[in-house]
Amino acid sequence: MLELRRFYIDGRWVSTRSTVEHVLINPSTEESVGVVSLGNSDDVNAAVAAARSAFPAWSSTDLVDRIDLIKRIHAIYSARIEEIADAISTEMGAPIDLARTRQAPAAARHMVNFLEAVKTFKFARPLGDHAPHDRILMEPIGVAGLITPWNWPMHQVALKVIPAMLSGCTMVLKPSEYAPLSSALLAEIIDDAGAPAGVFNLVYGDGETVGNALVSHPDVAMISFTGSTGAGRKVLKGAADTFKRVALELGGKGANLVFEDADEQAVERGVRQCFSNSGQSCNAPTRMLVERSIYDEAVEQARKVAETISVGASDMPGPHIGPVVSARQFERIQSLIQIGIREGGRLVTGGLGRPSDFNKGYFVRPTIFADVSNSMTIAQEEIFGPVLSIIPFETEDEAVEIANSTPYGLTNYVQSQNGEKRNRVARRLRSGMVEMNGQPRGAGAPFGGVLHSGGAREGGVWGLEEFMIVKSVSGWGDEPLR
Ligand code: NAD
Repeated sequence: MLELRRFYIDGRWVSTRSTVEHVLINPSTEESVGVVSLGNSDDVNAAVAAARSAFPAWSSTDLVDRIDLIKRIHAIYSARIEEIADAISTEMGAPIDLARTRQAPAAARHMVNFLEAVKTFKFARPLGDHAPHDRILMEPIGVAGLITPWNWPMHQVALKVIPAMLSGCTMVLKPSEYAPLSSALLAEIIDDAGAPAGVFNLVYGDGETVGNALVSHPDVAMISFTGSTGAGRKVLKGAADTFKRVALELGGKGANLVFEDADEQAVERGVRQCFSNSGQSCNAPTRMLVERSIYDEAVEQARKVAETISVGASDMPGPHIGPVVSARQFERIQSLIQIGIREGGRLVTGGLGRPSDFNKGYFVRPTIFADVSNSMTIAQEEIFGPVLSIIPFETEDEAVEIANSTPYGLTNYVQSQNGEKRNRVARRLRSGMVEMNGQPRGAGAPFGGVLHSGGAREGGVWGLEEFMIVKSVSGWGDEPLR
């Protein structure tokens, strides 16, 4: 039985007076595997005070020292990556091979990418030849509150902790109460790497108490939040009284536009991408929009692919998909499948209940609905499970119109072998990211959305800039730029 009772504050593991706890459940077995103490506002106050007192020294360290710290963190993280993968698999149910090959390495990759981005980052910039004595200074914003979800736990945490450290911020991390195990290991790694006391602090807790205490704390300059759109709305409102910067990475309802000239793998790729991580990715292409001339064929192909996707326990090696994270998510997905049937979606495969091999565990059947209209609930709401909605379209205009008709705007996808058409459609899609023909976006590309998907940008130089303020100075004395 795992017990996470102490928080990492001011360079030490300290006890909490809070008696509230959250039982960690293995999503594959529904058995409890541990318990995590949920903190209170006293714990947040202590963590923020530590971060605040560490800020003056940390923000004025040489960049080289901050880079060295990240390099040490990266080395220790890489050496302990198996443990990290195990922790992720246990806490949120990712199959162990997925945890080893994608979930845990994602954070190491972000560390390398940020180290690359900071190499050429200009902390002092000229304004232009017309104003030779002006300088634009990029300065750390202060104490950052970092609030993260459970679905890609280390990926999300690294996208915040690493740029915050590199930019010179100090921080308090509140990971999801469902996924504290991997963050506990990261705190040990940061400690072993020799981060000065107070630079990084960790408090476990729920959103209402610890999350909210961070959001409303007068000494926290910024909240970087990744999570659901509903919680993001509360965070934005909660931060208003103290005029914090709020960087939001929220939900999505990605459209995948499959044109009749798409490559042969396009449908299969779309189905697999939608179901990967059991459908629990904000950028999953959960609406497949298919041109009418290839629609019947595509639906049939999608069905066949879905029926080859197996479902299995998280500790079992293999390429299967695992359970969803919790009983609450399982029930929510079941209810949305029920709504899909009631509203007239054609169930092509999957459906209600667990796959027949299971009588426990939060396992969901890979499910495809065809003949979905974009006004149906399953086309509008983020389901966050392995459920794909297929929608036919007649023209490019109609495809773009459907894609843009949800409140979200995170990642959309385009499949066509006509480059001119792809570029035209990419420009018209209202989203922070567009991925085309299965080509992943490059290392250091900014991740983020528009509208109800939030407007933050994580990764690369944009991810560093999120944690900085722009200071404009005139009358600057001679000093080499760096
Ligand atoms: P969630 O909103 O329930 O929780 C996310 C985090 O916010 C948790 O740490 C939670 O404790 C905290 N929280 C909840 N209510 C809060 C409040 N009122 N104030 C402060 N903190 C609060 O989301 P989840 O179920 O953990 O994660 C899934 C969601 O995250 C999905 O909607 C998914 O699309 C989104 N997500 C977005 C991105 C992105 O980059 N855009 C990435 C991953 C996940």
